[in-house]
Amino acid sequence: MMEKITSLAKRRGFIFQGSDIYGGYQGFWDYGPAGVEMKNNIKKEWWKYMVYDQENVVGIDAAIVMNPIVWDKSGHLKAFTDPLVECKVCHKRFRADNEDILREHEKTHKDEKDLPAGEASIWAEAKTFNLMTEVLLGTTEPKEKSYLRGEITQGAFVNFKNVVDSTRVKIPFGIAQIGKAFRNEITPGNFTFRSREFEQMELEYFIKPDEKDSKETFEYFKDMRKKWYESLGINPKKLRFHDHEPDKIAHYARYATDLEYEAPFGWSEFEGIHHRGDYDLGNHGLKYKDNMTGEEYTPWVIETSGGVDRAMLFFLVDAYREDGDRVYLKLNPKIAPYKVAVFPLLANKPDLLAKARDIYKDLKRSLSVTWDDRGNIGKRYFAQDEIGTPWCVTVDFETLNDNSVTVRDRDSATQVRIAIDKLPEYFQNRLG
Ligand code: ATP
Repeated sequence: MMEKITSLAKRRGFIFQGSDIYGGYQGFWDYGPAGVEMKNNIKKEWWKYMVYDQENVVGIDAAIVMNPIVWDKSGHLKAFTDPLVECKVCHKRFRADNEDILREHEKTHKDEKDLPAGEASIWAEAKTFNLMTEVLLGTTEPKEKSYLRGEITQGAFVNFKNVVDSTRVKIPFGIAQIGKAFRNEITPGNFTFRSREFEQMELEYFIKPDEKDSKETFEYFKDMRKKWYESLGINPKKLRFHDHEPDKIAHYARYATDLEYEAPFGWSEFEGIHHRGDYDLGNHGLKYKDNMTGEEYTPWVIETSGGVDRAMLFFLVDAYREDGDRVYLKLNPKIAPYKVAVFPLLANKPDLLAKARDIYKDLKRSLSVTWDDRGNIGKRYFAQDEIGTPWCVTVDFETLNDNSVTVRDRDSATQVRIAIDKLPEYFQNRLG
């Protein structure tokens, strides 16, 4: 299944290997013309749901590189680590907590003579490995060491005071952000699932410290986030929560749960909901003053932290359908790269071309629309099905007489005749 998705993603311009012409670069991916549309749609839907549909959430867009003091205070320089083991035979390094991968690797050294004399195991003792990606800045040597952010979260905390002072927000309120994060992952893999550069979409929700309230807020966001994925078409049977065991919990969290999807490679996290308590604002020495009561305190934070790339991967996997020879992506139209594809029946008939071009230009004003005049109609449907385009509009000879077109539906493959001037309304009604 992952091979089918990876190959479709490349064939149809969703996702390419990063630096493809040089053989790729492990853990980095480039989004193509269809991919960037879909990714932008996911981010747009997230922002609408998490910011515009809320009364007390504002957005920010913080810098990727921050003063290194931030990462010291946030605990990332010490504690943002994964356990790493090295194979004593071939010196490859792996995440120590990924038992399946370790077992697979052990099979490559089945032969006892591979092992150094007197050694019972191929594995050296596990070490902790820091995931922060270092960057060197400045013009004088030694250059100043800083980091590409390992999570976008800290941008919301260091701007907490700026946001409170510059807007009218009052606790409880949230700061939302979408942006790139970087992790020097030990074993990138499973296509874009574990990358070294990826995008996160996060809400940091600030509340007055209170055990009961914070538990309720935590449960509220769990439910809300699951509903978001479901509303965009993810099969609810393939979603579950997995609470973090106390010994696996991130250094900043009081408690945490992962929203998981049943991927072809097993149940996997695509979003974390974390109770960060006062860990971050406390470490940055930031407080909130209630102007009505004069009370001053360090707010607690409930965080929802999802990956844009993982969401997109799971939306693609979940939407993949095979129906005989037909392959189509049953994507929710809201996140499909294009809503409509417009075709002239024949590319060498100027009348058809001109009419189709007019429809294309007109629809483009309000929708994301693509154009295709290659090959025959069957091939064009085939391509648009694989891209997940919900509707295809064909301009034929009848169109020239009656100003109507054929609209073909992706999921049912049925066709209806619609008047050209009714097309925008027809699509808007179906988009909701
Ligand atoms: P994992 O346990 O898989 O390493 P995590 O628990 O470290 O993930 P968080 O720190 O909670 O992840 O990050 C929040 C979200 O950011 C994740 O749910 C995921 O969607 C995304 N994310 C984290 N690491 C990566 C990565 N290497 N590649 C792609 N997305 C990632």
